[in-house]
Order: sequence, then C-alpha cells, then structure tokens
Amino acid sequence: KNVGKISLEQIDSLSVKSFPLCMRQLHQSLRENHHLRHGGRMQYGLFLKGIGLSLEQAMQFWRSEFVKGKVDADKFDKAYAYSIRHMFGKEGKRTDYTPYSCIKVILSNAPSQGDHHGCPFRHSDPELLKQKLQVYKVSPSGISQILELVKGMHYQLACQKYFELTHNIEDSNFSLSHPNQYFVESQRILSG
Ligand code: SF4
Repeated sequence: KNVGKISLEQIDSLSVKSFPLCMRQLHQSLRENHHLRHGGRMQYGLFLKGIGLSLEQAMQFWRSEFVKGKVDADKFDKAYAYSIRHMFGKEGKRTDYTPYSCIKVILSNAPSQGDHHGCPFRHSDPELLKQKLQVYKVSPSGISQILELVKGMHYQLACQKYFELTHNIEDSNFSLSHPNQYFVESQRILSG
C-alpha cells in the first residue's frame, strides 16, 4: 500500500493543501492544544494511517505533540500508546480499523464542547464556518455557495465545492464520500 509514502515533516503543509476541512481542523487543534480528545484522535489518527503513516511514524507524531502539552512521555506511553497500536490492529481484537467515511463522520458521534472532530460543514455553526473559510482565503462568492449547500444539508457537496475552490478547478469529476478520497484526489491534481 502507501505506508511510508509521507514524512512527518510534510504533514503541516499537506494539511493546508490537501486535507479536507475536518482533518485540517483536527490537525490545527492538535498543533495548538497539543492534545485531542478520543473522538478526534480516532478520526484523525485513522485518516493519517490511511494516507500512509506507519505505526512507528504515528507513535512519534502523537507522542511528540502530546509531550509539548500536559502529558509527559511516561504518561503518554501508559495512557495513549495502547490506543494508537490498537488503531493499527496491534492490540485487543487486532481489528485493522479503517478510516471513517464522510457519512460516518456526519451521522455518528456528534462533537460536543471541547471536541474538534466531526464534519465542519455539518457540525460547525454557519457563522463560525464562514469565519473559518474567510481565514482559509475562500472568496466571498465561494463562501456563499458553500453556505447555500450547507443550508440545504448537502454537506459533502459543500465540501466538494471547497475542494474545487481551493484547487482552482471548475468541476471535480468525482463524488466525495471519504476524507481519504479527498486527499488522494487533491494529491493527484497537485502533482499534475
Ligand atoms: Fe470531512 Fe467528509 Fe465533512 Fe468533507 S464532507 S469535511 S471530508 S467529513
């Protein structure tokens, strides 16, 4: 598969160029707070596994971020390392968990206060979504189109519109159903 295709140093720039909004938001929160709650770790951790992080890279990635916050290395190894190995099918029932689809993110486990997981098109307050899109330099007309789709509860189409606007294409000829698909399509366009 694609294991080992990306390096940890690339993640910040990839998160800006090729991550869907849900994952960009999770990445940014992790970098800012040096922590993510369980729902966020699952959604983002499995996505990163899907784009090709190995277990060793994932461990290094999460540990180095968490120890910048309130968690020391010892606590990390006791409280969090297990769940990362678990994600890769190395613990418990040894299920090799697959990254969440859009439908799963949109319909299950809605975020509550202090959570950063979920689908921003579905779960963010429209006013906050608008502000975020402004910060991410989406044009005012693009933002109106996205908010119109959100209002009609077409969350994946809103996400796809965001894709088109941020990749400068008229019409993405795929039907978005998965955050990892978003990443693959983005990389395909950016690598020409
Ligand atoms: Fe993420 Fe899918 Fe929502 Fe886009 S539509 S932000 S890929 S969950």
